[in-house]
Amino acid sequence: GKRAFIAGVADDHGYGWAISKALAAAGAEILVGTWVPALNIFESSLRRGKFDETRKLPDGSLMEITKVYPLDAVFDSPEDVPEDIKTNKRYLGSSNWTVKEVVESVKQDFGSIDILVHSLANGPEVTKPLLETSRYGYLAAISASSYSYVSLLKHFAPIMNPGGASLSLTYIASERIIPGYGGGMSSAKAALESDTRVLAFEAGRKHNIRVNTISAGPLRSRAAKAIGF
Ligand code: NAD
Repeated sequence: GKRAFIAGVADDHGYGWAISKALAAAGAEILVGTWVPALNIFESSLRRGKFDETRKLPDGSLMEITKVYPLDAVFDSPEDVPEDIKTNKRYLGSSNWTVKEVVESVKQDFGSIDILVHSLANGPEVTKPLLETSRYGYLAAISASSYSYVSLLKHFAPIMNPGGASLSLTYIASERIIPGYGGGMSSAKAALESDTRVLAFEAGRKHNIRVNTISAGPLRSRAAKAIGF
């Protein structure tokens, strides 16, 4: 069977959860990367059976998540983590959550993966029109929503089996004006789409893996609710 790592699963409402279920139903082993500040509540909800209804697969069995890795995809390695995050009480309880460390842990635990899914985005100023967006907000949106994919693929590619596949989720606001999708998130999705083409070219040749992005329709996930969609 195939082994998949899905980055960006912290509840049962988003695309990451639905994609995990589809992959599990197709026989894949499921590993997820969960944003560090959301880790405790996600793991305790899983343990307490809060997701048992939505964990049901078409054959009646429950999706098994083999391992949940804490992840913050805006940091590539421990040297990049600023003091205020290091000492933040939501981060203190977890370790090895930078991209490089997560990939090292997955390599130690399982050796390789076949499928990488990037289902994460963040834009601290998403509710502001682009015209009102600060440089900080714009760069933070790109860091969390676009470069996070470059980084995940760059680090995972060497442990992806040839013929493997990588997928991210984009949004039509990259091509057309969607008022309310601000803070540089439209820019971040445009970058993600362009990067998908370049990464497909590069990773295809170097690692024999496919790189794709799906422009998903609107879904009332936690992230979408936060911007009133
Ligand atoms: P979601 O809230 O379920 O998923 C986003 C996840 O990203 C959350 O689990 C959050 O904890 C995680 N995250 C945020 N910052 C992170 C970081 N620095 N490191 C690691 N994880 C981090 O919402 P969703 O809408 O399912 O989003 C998944 C993907 O789908 C995103 O790329 C989003 O832009 C895209 N998308 C969503 C819609 C929609 O309408 N919901 C439409 C098109 C595309």
